[in-house]
Amino acid sequence: MDYAAGKPVDPRAIEAMLPYMKTSYGNPSSLHVAGQEAKRALDEARRKVAELINAEKAESIIFTSGATESNNLAIKGAANRNKDRGTKIITSRVEHMSVVNPVKFLTTKGFEAVFLPVDKFGTLDLDSLQKELNDKTTLVSIVYANGEIGTIEPIREISKIVHTKNAFLHVDATVAAGQVPIDVKALGVDLLTISSNDMYGPKGVGALYVKDGIRIEPLLHGGGQEKGLRSGTENIPSIVAFGKAAEIVKQEMQTHLEKLTKLRDRLIEGLLKPLPYTFLNGHPTNRLPDNVSVRYSFIEGESMLLSLEMNGVSVSSGSACASKTLEPSHVLLATGLKHEEAHGSIMFSLGRENSLEDVEYVIGLMPNIIKRLRAMSPLTPAELKE
Ligand code: PMP
Repeated sequence: MDYAAGKPVDPRAIEAMLPYMKTSYGNPSSLHVAGQEAKRALDEARRKVAELINAEKAESIIFTSGATESNNLAIKGAANRNKDRGTKIITSRVEHMSVVNPVKFLTTKGFEAVFLPVDKFGTLDLDSLQKELNDKTTLVSIVYANGEIGTIEPIREISKIVHTKNAFLHVDATVAAGQVPIDVKALGVDLLTISSNDMYGPKGVGALYVKDGIRIEPLLHGGGQEKGLRSGTENIPSIVAFGKAAEIVKQEMQTHLEKLTKLRDRLIEGLLKPLPYTFLNGHPTNRLPDNVSVRYSFIEGESMLLSLEMNGVSVSSGSACASKTLEPSHVLLATGLKHEEAHGSIMFSLGRENSLEDVEYVIGLMPNIIKRLRAMSPLTPAELKE
């Protein structure tokens, strides 16, 4: 139950990529037959990824090595290329580090950055966006849905506010794309990050949607592939598999959404009901269908994680990318939790292969694990230990 950290690749996507490693190994920049075959495969994958997010045309999709690169390309690329329009960047306190760190980096290069607050559910404070937005703002970057707490942000409203000024809107849709319908035209988004593995494609490949007319600067300079925005020979097998995965998630979205929502709601109910001092992190309803982030007072996420692991259940105590630091999650702190509350959180992220039996098994395990850990914790009040 840690699909947010990594998902299996859909066998149909693996099937689709194999010929591009074995027999059709041309370079799409070559003019001969093998090259043109690779070019056709690249174009088709681009069309499929564009269709998933209703981009106006296939050429609006720039393939990258994944979400981190797409976020860097969007943020540094848009900020640097449009310096003449202003040097203020606005983002939120619930962004992934691949947004936080490029924005912080830009502050060492003469840009001003503002990290907007969120409410206790992790939803962006639109009033502060309105207040901070001014004629100097070039870029606003907001996550579509946070991977740790699952809260979905009001992107349409954000876009309306951002476009009352001359600023661009970048949306990090890494964990949302493929799980919930995303329509860049209806949302009014200028730049949007998506990632292959989050939709059961291979790791190490992703894309940035760049709306027609939005000027950005490349991070990599070289042969000028991807309209000059991402030089380097395209990773055709992975891109083909990404395209196939995007096509599949689009077709199966409704069934997937319904199945996971049921599992998620049962898991939330089953975890919260039997135990006191147990709370849901993130928004109660406006959240991704796969995310269940729960906090238990008086104990630590890591000890719950290890107890579950001993029972054959893999979960996470936060973002896999931040698990090497002992600091509590900045996302949980942004929702107003104290350090010890944030440390008592664990995150389940559901996926295609999870069943209702899996969910019931976890619900059955949890009370004993929590009671045992609380009995050992010096923070637990005496009446709870009895
Ligand atoms: N953005 C968000 C919201 C994420 O959750 C993650 C991690 N899955 C990323 C960006 C970065 O993804 P990657 O490590 O695959 O580049």
